Amino acid sequence: MQIYTRKQSMSKLLIVGTVAFDAIETPFGKTDKIVGGAATYISIAASQFNVESGIVSVVGGDFPKDFLKQLNEKNIDTSGIEIIEDGKTFFWSGKYHNDLNVRDTLATDLNVLADFDPKVPEKFQNTDFLMLGNLHPSVQMAVIKQLPNRPKLVVLDTMNFWMDNTWDELMEVVAKVDVITINDEEARQMSGEYSLVKAANKIHKMGPRYVVIKKGEHGALLFENGNAFFAPALPLEEVFDPTGAGDTFAGGFIGHIANTKDISFENMKKAVISGSNLASFCVEKLGTERMINLTKKEMMNRLIEFKKLTQFDIELS
Ligand code: AMP
Repeated sequence: MQIYTRKQSMSKLLIVGTVAFDAIETPFGKTDKIVGGAATYISIAASQFNVESGIVSVVGGDFPKDFLKQLNEKNIDTSGIEIIEDGKTFFWSGKYHNDLNVRDTLATDLNVLADFDPKVPEKFQNTDFLMLGNLHPSVQMAVIKQLPNRPKLVVLDTMNFWMDNTWDELMEVVAKVDVITINDEEARQMSGEYSLVKAANKIHKMGPRYVVIKKGEHGALLFENGNAFFAPALPLEEVFDPTGAGDTFAGGFIGHIANTKDISFENMKKAVISGSNLASFCVEKLGTERMINLTKKEMMNRLIEFKKLTQFDIELS
């Protein structure tokens, strides 16, 4: 007798965001243009999970095709990355202070992103999960509008650049998402509140049911109306380059949720830990270097460290 086992289908995860060149300056040194971008970091982090992911983005003819191949080798579909042969790839440059939580943006050259008209590949039009990584909010909105059915969960990441330059468009997108992940300074800017609890409450009112506030080396907070959860960042001996940590966090967060197909608050807590876990690797080397070579075993071992770091017993009497 033959026994047929039905393989559980893998979730589809569509990731929108920049695929970019970055030039980074830290107290330890300076780089020329290296590959970066929000969608790049998110997709590499999410590739640690059993998900079928694809990117929607745009690059110029100057972007290395070999890098796209490396993404394909990680099972990341790049057919939604448009290549404008006579255009230049989005370029960002940033400088970190001695306190690596603080950085200045030195340049943001939109280049091919300026007139990008995204097209969701047919294969991803019925995506289960949508991760709107950092990019122009009107591009994020155009992607939402192309999906015939609403995904199970829509997560948005954004930054001060879009708050400063495209506030109205950003608010339209924020109103449509389930989860927003932003850093503490951006949460303060967006809400006009210094207290992060008050900031989260105001942001809930703008649309997202879940608000995740990233605090760099001080961990991340998850808020749902009335519920809160805190995940620490793993204390590391050395941080080399924090670029991409926020996006890697987002990739680990949505990767865990897409893998487990569970959008409850309890599971979101695990997703926040998963995001913090992966972000702790990202910062250990320059650019995407550490994440590209990360193994599942390393990821699992560090999760054990996370568990030890946060577990305690106390008598409540
Ligand atoms: P993170 O360190 O996680 O905040 O993200 C850093 C990445 O975001 C870099 O690789 C940049 O290419 C990308 N980035 C920087 N500025 C922007 C922007 N305004 N829009 C989209 N992506 C950006």
